[in-house]
Amino acid sequence: MKYPKLREIKGALISFFTKSYTNKFPFAPHTPFKRYRGKPYYDKDKCIGCTACVNVCPTGALSFEDTDSGAGAKRTLKIRWDICIECGQCELNCLTAEGIKLSQEFDISTTEKRADLHQNIEKEMIRCEHCAEPIACRDHLVWTIKKIGPLHTSNTSLIAFQQQALSIKTTVSRSKEKFVRADRFRVLCPHCRREAVFTS
Ligand code: SF4
Ligand code: SF4
Repeated sequence: MKYPKLREIKGALISFFTKSYTNKFPFAPHTPFKRYRGKPYYDKDKCIGCTACVNVCPTGALSFEDTDSGAGAKRTLKIRWDICIECGQCELNCLTAEGIKLSQEFDISTTEKRADLHQNIEKEMIRCEHCAEPIACRDHLVWTIKKIGPLHTSNTSLIAFQQQALSIKTTVSRSKEKFVRADRFRVLCPHCRREAVFTS
C-alpha cells in the first residue's frame, strides 16, 4: 500500500484553508486583475486620427477609411473586437497616449452578429485648398502645432491652418489650373506644395 506524500497532504491542507482561485462567473460578476488587458476602445475626443495604432495592430483589428461626401472629408477609424487579441500594442504606441485604451472587459460572448462587434469613430479631415485631396485630420494638425510650438512656423501649411483657426483671412484669388506665388501660403497637400514651389 502506498502512503500519500507529505507534500501532497500539505498542499491539500493549504488549499482547504485558503480562498478559492475560481469564482462563480457567469452567475456572479468577476473583477479581473488590475493590469488585465481587455477590449480596446477609442476615445473620440483624445484620438487625433493619426492611424499609428492601425500600423502596429498585428491582427488587422484596427482599420481606417477616408471618405469625401462633398459636404466634407472624414476619416473613420474602426476596431473589430472579434479579431482583436488584446495585445495592447495600440495603446502602447498611441501618439497621444490617450486615444485608445484597453478596458477590463473580458467577456465578449454575444448573440449579435460578428459584423456588429466593432466601434467606429469619425474625425474631420482637412483638404488641400488646391486639389481638395484630404491631407490629415483637423485634430492631428492642432495637436502637431501644440506639440512643436513655434517650430510649426517652418511649415507653411501649418501656418495657414493656424491663421484660419485664428480667423485670420488668408484667401486670395487664384487660378484653379496654375499656381500663383500667393498659393505657397495656403494649406496644400505635398504634391500641390511641390508644384506651387517649383512653378510659381
Ligand atoms: S489590442 Fe492588439 S490586436 Fe487589439 S486592436 Fe490593439 S493592437 Fe490590435
Ligand atoms: S491618436 Fe492614438 S488612437 Fe488615435 S489614431 Fe493616433 S495612435 Fe490611434
